[in-house]
Formats: sequence, structure tokens, C-alpha cells
Amino acid sequence: MNTFGTPLSPSATRVMLLGSGELGKEVIIALQRLGVETIAVDRYDHSPGQQVAHHAHRITMSDPEQLQALILREKPDLVVPEIEAIATQTLESLEAAGAARVIPTARAARLTMDREGIRRLAAETLQLPTSPYQFCDTLQELQAAIEQRIGYPCVVKPVMSSSGKGQSRIDGPEDIQRAWDYAMTGGRVSHGRVIVEGFVDFDYEITLLTVRSRAADGSIETQFCEPIGHKQVDGDYVESWQPQAMHPAALQKAQQVAKAITDDLGGQGVFGVELFIKGDEVWFSEVSPRPHDTGMVTMISQWQSQFELHARAILGLPVNTALRTPGASAVIYGGVDAQDIVYEGVAEALRVPNTELRLFGKPESHVKRRMGVALAYDNDLDTARDHAREAAHQVKPRLP
Ligand code: AMP
Repeated sequence: MNTFGTPLSPSATRVMLLGSGELGKEVIIALQRLGVETIAVDRYDHSPGQQVAHHAHRITMSDPEQLQALILREKPDLVVPEIEAIATQTLESLEAAGAARVIPTARAARLTMDREGIRRLAAETLQLPTSPYQFCDTLQELQAAIEQRIGYPCVVKPVMSSSGKGQSRIDGPEDIQRAWDYAMTGGRVSHGRVIVEGFVDFDYEITLLTVRSRAADGSIETQFCEPIGHKQVDGDYVESWQPQAMHPAALQKAQQVAKAITDDLGGQGVFGVELFIKGDEVWFSEVSPRPHDTGMVTMISQWQSQFELHARAILGLPVNTALRTPGASAVIYGGVDAQDIVYEGVAEALRVPNTELRLFGKPESHVKRRMGVALAYDNDLDTARDHAREAAHQVKPRLP
């Protein structure tokens, strides 16, 4: 983009977010700071991003007709997917017809929409190291795959799921039925396909935020943030920190893997490349063609957070991925199933040294729904982690 217009006028530069949760909300804020007019789309009203955008729409984003009608009506300069469950064939046809520019590309949105597209691209086309895996449509196929090829322990995940929903570990034959049943309840759409992966006994796992942006000469430049370490419970992130210390050889391999997958996906923006590390060995796990939940730590640890980096990169502006300070994030869960909850202990949380909070403002809480995040910085990473955890612990969601 060479010029930027005035929001809410005919000259406006307009960006549509498909999905407007806590990550979309921060992208919207970053865009607004650059004078961009923002359109927040979600499946429910008063989503976090809708609360700060110029315009809000509620549609079923997996419905091709609804999605196409809204994009053609709003005519945004850029369409920015924030979630996987989108009618990506609509994005591809609109992009091919020149009716929408999709971030990073419509093809990347399609390939990362489920676990199969991206795993086959990474492992089979690009030959990147991954866990051994197989896709299965029935319990019998799953049993055969584990017995004949994958072995124990292994992990079963619905092909269409995120945040650990429907995911479980199998340690022996007696676990298979339970894992299959659980996967059937946890997927986003009930079409029963799962991936079974050999369990990788990694030392630690990282998200390598990788940014594709335009250089002064118009070419695409790839830059990496410092690696982010994180802790997962039941497949969902509970804590993250930056920088994760890494052996130089492992970091180099991690960057090579991230470069290979993001080069193939193409376009401009931030990618969250998830990798498992053991010694100098690196396995590709997944990639988000957008900011990553574990990357919320960058709101305190980098000069430009992953959201600012994404906003700049998609607009064709220069980026700076430098670390500002070691930092950490800790998730605040809803703890209750209720609407319109209240948060106690916010002052106590912010009395923990060098902390910040983000409360996402989601209208509906669930026990395991992510409702906020605590952030902390310190020259000593362990202290930052302790403080982030302590601040998150102080915030107490309650029934209204
Ligand atoms: P995913 O939804 O695929 O990102 O998985 C969530 C988390 O589960 C990962 O961040 C890992 O901590 C764990 N996990 C997933 N797949 C494997 C695997 N093949 N081996 C070991 N741990 C795994």
C-alpha cells in the first residue's frame, strides 16, 4: 500500500478481520493506530475485536454464500483470516477473480484450515521432519495404523480442531476407543477424520514467529522473532515466554524449517511456526498463517508485538522483530460457565511488579475458555514467568 486514507471516508484504507477474538482485537488496534478502517467479523456479537473495530458483522464464516456476500458488499482492501473455520474456497475464488486480497494468501488459508493440508505439504511435499503420522476415518483404521505403523505412545487429534479440543494421548491398546470417542466429540465439524501422530519426546517446544514483509526494493524479506517457549496442558497453551534459550544449531535448523514452510505459503504477514526440539533435532508440528496465541507475550517482550508486526507486514510497511526485554505470559481462564462475568483482583494482579493485563471482554465464559492473559517482564526470565503466573492467579473471574 503506497497511500493511507482517512477512516470512515471514501479514501479509507479498509481491512476486514475474519474472526475477531483476542488475537484479532490486537491486530485491529494495531491497524487503527495506523489510521486504517477496520471491519470485525465473527460468529457472535460483541466479540473482542468487534468491540474495538469501526464496523462489526455477525455471519457464519464457514458458509460460502454469507462470506462472499459480505466481502463483496464491504469491498475491503485486505481480508485477514484470524481463525481456521472459514469457507476458504470462497476466499480462493474471490482472490482469483481479483475481488479480494487475502492475507497471507487464500491458498495458505486453505492449506492450514485443517491438519491434513499443512501436514502433507510439510512432510510429503517439502520433506520437512515431522512426527510419523496417518489419517484415519474409522476406529478400525486407527487401530490398524497404531498397531502396524505408529506405535505407542501416540497422539490422536481431530483433523479440524484447535486448542487441544478432542486431542488425547494413547499409551496402549486399552486407550484407543476412548481417544477415538473423545476425538469425535471435539472436532469442529462432525466428519470423523483424525490424525494419529507418533509421540515426540521433545526437550521443549517453541513458536518461531516468522515475518514476511516488503523490503525497500519491493522484494519479500523474511525475519524471525526470538523463539518463544511455551507450556501446554491438554493441548492448550497455559504459559509462554521469550526468549527460549536454544542451542545455535537447533535455532538454525528451526529457522530453516520456518523459512521453507513460509516461503511455500507465501504472501505477507506473521506466521507462527510450531516446532518440537530435542537436542539439536527439530520437528515441524504446525503453522498458523497469522499471529499465534503463544505470541501474546510479545506485547510485553518486543518493541513491536506480533500484532504490530502483522499490521505492518500486511500493509507493506517495514518491521523490526527485535526483543525489548525477556518476558512471559500466563493465561487467565474463565473458571465458570456463565455470561457477563466479573473479574476480581485486577488491582492485586497489577501490583505484581512489572506486569500488564489483557482482559478480552468475551461475553460468555467457560471453565476452560481463555478470557485474559497476564504479561510480565524482567531481566531474569524465571522471575518474569513467576510474576506472570502470579498476576494471572490474582485475577478471579466470578459469576455476575
Ligand atoms: P497441536 O494442537 O497439534 O498444536 O498440539 C497441542 C500440543 O500437544 C502441542 O503443543 C504439544 O505440546 C502436544 N503435542 C501435539 N502433538 C504431539 C506429538 N506428536 N508428540 C508430542 N506432543 C505433541
